[in-house]
Amino acid sequence: MSYQKFLADRLFTGKEMLHQSLVVITDNQGNILDLVNEAEAGDDVQLVHGTICPGFINAHCHLELSHMYSMLPERTGLVDFLIGVFQQRHFPEETIASAIEAADKAMHEAGIVAVGDISNTPFTIQAKQASKLRYRNFIEVTGYVPGIATQRFANIEQVYQAFINALPHVSIVPHAPYSVSPELFGMINAHSKGKIISIHNQETAAEDTLYQDASGDFFRLYETLGVDISFTKPYHQSSVQTYLPWLRDTAATLLVHNTCISEADLQFIKAQHQAIHYCCCINANLYIENKVPPIELLRKHDAQICLGTDSLASNHQLSIAAEIKTIRQHFPQIPFAEVLQWATYNGAVALGFDDTLGSIEKGKQPGLLLIEDTDTMTVKRLI
Ligand SMILES: [Zn+2]
Repeated sequence: MSYQKFLADRLFTGKEMLHQSLVVITDNQGNILDLVNEAEAGDDVQLVHGTICPGFINAHCHLELSHMYSMLPERTGLVDFLIGVFQQRHFPEETIASAIEAADKAMHEAGIVAVGDISNTPFTIQAKQASKLRYRNFIEVTGYVPGIATQRFANIEQVYQAFINALPHVSIVPHAPYSVSPELFGMINAHSKGKIISIHNQETAAEDTLYQDASGDFFRLYETLGVDISFTKPYHQSSVQTYLPWLRDTAATLLVHNTCISEADLQFIKAQHQAIHYCCCINANLYIENKVPPIELLRKHDAQICLGTDSLASNHQLSIAAEIKTIRQHFPQIPFAEVLQWATYNGAVALGFDDTLGSIEKGKQPGLLLIEDTDTMTVKRLI
């Protein structure tokens, strides 16, 4: 067996930043064999400048929208963005497939080792089978009108079957509170019992308006789509406080975006028994709504934060390094090591991949990155 030995200025383990001279020893497949003091490391230690870090985890992506890169205008708000996706996502399958393959490779080059990926179609299966990345596949269903729940669920079960025949780590998940009926939430909860799921949560203020008062901009969305939603009744509380109990049997839920989450919501969620992870996608929030997630509020409530890129329809790149850079520009007071933990260990836990990924520990195979410049977030892969 041949070894590789790396010594950098700093070592971020996934959980803490070490400034002492620890050498990381791996085999050629990137399995961590040991962490030892420089004096005990022997010969052939490669000295590198910067911070060694485990591979990044992209906890929220839509690989199948990669062909929509640069198609939709920025800062239009969520409703107009969604109308754009619905109306413009249809392309020849070869175009979609080649964009998926290129995006998967770009994520690998950007230091990403695992992805929580949303799929509405089977288009990504082939690329994922050939990928170097580890994927958790969230098969996403929509259907706001209660009467179509059975049909929509039957349709998505076919996509689910195609995935489980080809790939591990698959579950059926709701798209968003404004696009899923209570009936459909019930079917998802029953099907995804004990599984990890995700949902787009409180990405726009209009979502809470819909649940609180049965009014707001989502009526315009459905009108544009030709769907009558005049049956909508107010719940007189926020979306997350309404629907989270409907998902009570799932093992863990990734709440994605949370741009409009309130302190009362965070207190409510803490009292629920589910494991909740909060996925921030700051570049997508800036792209779509020109907002940033309430990261200080999340920190105040000890929320388990992880990071995602969302899709190339709402981001200029699928790079966790770019997400870290933007977070540090908007929240310079947050310690660098804390943000790195969101990007590595917390993401691995959220996706259920912390058995092998997310931290530099003996026996794991987390990928090994070198952050050469913490301001520009210039990153290269060591393994
Ligand atoms: Zn998304």
